[in-house]
Amino acid sequence: MNIKENVDEIIEKVAAACERSERELDEVTIMTVTKYVSPERVDKAIEAGVEHFGESRSEGLLAKREAIQTPVYWHFIGRLQSRKVKEVVHNCDVIHSLDRLSLAKEINKRYQREKPMSCMVQVNVSGEETKAGVSPEELEEFVRSLQSYEHIQVSGLMTMAPHVDDPEEVRPYFKKMRALRDKIQTLNLSHAPCHHLSMGMSNDYVQAVEEGATIIRLGTSIVGSEMVD
Ligand SMILES: *Cc1c(COP(=O)(O)O)cnc(C)c1O
Repeated sequence: MNIKENVDEIIEKVAAACERSERELDEVTIMTVTKYVSPERVDKAIEAGVEHFGESRSEGLLAKREAIQTPVYWHFIGRLQSRKVKEVVHNCDVIHSLDRLSLAKEINKRYQREKPMSCMVQVNVSGEETKAGVSPEELEEFVRSLQSYEHIQVSGLMTMAPHVDDPEEVRPYFKKMRALRDKIQTLNLSHAPCHHLSMGMSNDYVQAVEEGATIIRLGTSIVGSEMVD
């Protein structure tokens, strides 16, 4: 596993996708998802130039934070239980999985810093029963209701597309996410600038970038998915 080669190849593909969709490469942040791998691989990814990392469980986040000395950005991308919030809020820069008011309430209560916590609202754009997230129909009301939580800023929307063999099949969901993001932006809510679109994983990031993703979340394709070195 040569992480530097993986990163370079992905940057090339993202750059090509940006060119096809008339976007700038610096509009897209590549996050490396390290939930399956050891801190050694995080360090290799840092050497390869990666600055953004994602973890999906609080235990994993805390373990990596303790092991990694280099200052990088940490994203919490998994389902977040309310009882884990106090461990997570001061150990990450962005929470991608805000999906219910009870969670917003807990984040608001536990978060102590002056500038608000950057949160993405997770949207279940495909309507799959197993997926977390608010429905597209509920989104606007949900975002509006976050206004009363002074420590929360809605910095964007996040989604996980269905896993399919042909990533072209999920393109319509990415288009829909972009339309939802644009719609929220037009509301001009001061607590919800909502400029980010966190979508695209190892199998579908090219389509996601073409449709407007600003953060792609890549695990397997950068660091692999086995706990070995
Ligand atoms: C694991 C995970 C990813 C990365 O998945 P890969 O297919 O390995 O790229 C992205 N987003 C979330 C929310 C994840 O849990």
